[in-house]
Amino acid sequence: MNLPYAESYKIKMVESIKRSTKAERLEWIKNADYNLFNLRSNQVYVDLLTDSGTGAMSDKQWSAMMLGDESYAGASSYYKLKNAVKDILGFEYFLPTHQGRAAENVLFSTLVKAGDIVPGNSHFDTTKGHIEFRKAKAIDCTIDEAFNTTIQHDFKGNINLNRLETVLQDNSADKIPFIIVTVTCNSSGGQPVSMQNMKEVYQLAQEYKIRVIFDSARFAENAYFIKQREAGYADKSIKEIVKEMFSYADGMTMSSKKDAIVNMGGFIALREEKVFKEATVYNIMFEGFISYGGMSGRDMNALAQGLDEGTEFDVLDNRIQQVAYLGTKLKEYGVPVQEPFGGHAIFVDAKRFLSHLPKEEFLAQTLGVELFIEGGIRAVEIGAILADRDPETRENRYPELELLRLAIPRRTYTNNHMDYVAAAIKNVYDRRLEIKSGLKIMEEAPIMRHFTVKLDRI
Ligand SMILES: *Cc1c(COP(=O)(O)O)cnc(C)c1O
Repeated sequence: MNLPYAESYKIKMVESIKRSTKAERLEWIKNADYNLFNLRSNQVYVDLLTDSGTGAMSDKQWSAMMLGDESYAGASSYYKLKNAVKDILGFEYFLPTHQGRAAENVLFSTLVKAGDIVPGNSHFDTTKGHIEFRKAKAIDCTIDEAFNTTIQHDFKGNINLNRLETVLQDNSADKIPFIIVTVTCNSSGGQPVSMQNMKEVYQLAQEYKIRVIFDSARFAENAYFIKQREAGYADKSIKEIVKEMFSYADGMTMSSKKDAIVNMGGFIALREEKVFKEATVYNIMFEGFISYGGMSGRDMNALAQGLDEGTEFDVLDNRIQQVAYLGTKLKEYGVPVQEPFGGHAIFVDAKRFLSHLPKEEFLAQTLGVELFIEGGIRAVEIGAILADRDPETRENRYPELELLRLAIPRRTYTNNHMDYVAAAIKNVYDRRLEIKSGLKIMEEAPIMRHFTVKLDRI
């Protein structure tokens, strides 16, 4: 008999979670204005809101924390992290920040000005926010296959090179501070970018003398997919693949709360000394002195260890197999999900799930609310609410994909939890036609409204 798959870790510490009744959940979600961000964590049974900062650190990370150096300047923890960035990612210059969007804030303050254009593959919401906040424009050049959840394509995060070249041709280089490549591409469903595509984007960028920056939150998952799917990489280690990936970038922003498996942290890494020096000024203003940038020494130690662990094959294999386990279950139940499965999450296609309702009723959010009521599961909308209004016309933007994301925290839940989640979704799916209407917005912020939006049932 073939031995079945089993995780290559065991559990040393546990945290209790509490079941609730449907009546309680109906009350809670109403009081939360149908915004899942407003729920208290103790009202949630299985929390798949995000895989950001919600992973379980290892015994080695926890012990590294005890060795944190909290000196204001020149802490050993800073040098430990700087060395890890150099060794694992290959960048000479590095600035710690308190999380990913802080890295964007610092780097974009340095490079982006009003009227600029930043092409890329489906920009993440905070990335787009930081571009639009500076009155610059994000142009999505993702391949079309990414927007059809039924098409099988190994690298749906890829950039359409023709589309990119058109943008580079139509605009002068001084209007394009950089091209941003998000690995994996969060907004198109945690889909990877191929090595080939990274290389071609970089070559094109060099022709036009434009920088390439990687938005790198899930770079290691991207490397895992390259190893599994791209010809010539099967025998390379994740660390070798990671090194090659970043050789096609001039710099990176990182949310360490994802693939570096820490609860808080981020950084910028760069090849150009000039940009580094300019960014240093903003880092000191917004984040902290360059040797801590909003992070404590212990957190930098945990992050250095996390970068090393997060780029080990087994750690990635455990994680991505668990995500695929949930995806496979849902497929068996006939639930429409994005394929191939993403690295960090399963994305339920809300347009296909609730095909009897109009898009103006916020389908993915409606589905998210139903799933919470059904099983106390918290997922997140990646759809029209997240897409915000057009900054010029102020009209709602309805993206091609209207998804409910079930993000799986790293090393946190067991496959029994995945079974529970799949069963709850199946129940909602079976009674989907009883969902007669969706949600409407009662109150919203001018930008990044999804965090605080107040909704009501139609
Ligand atoms: C999470 C994320 C960010 C922002 O990082 P935070 O740490 O949440 O501020 C940026 N880009 C991508 C692709 C992300 O997934």
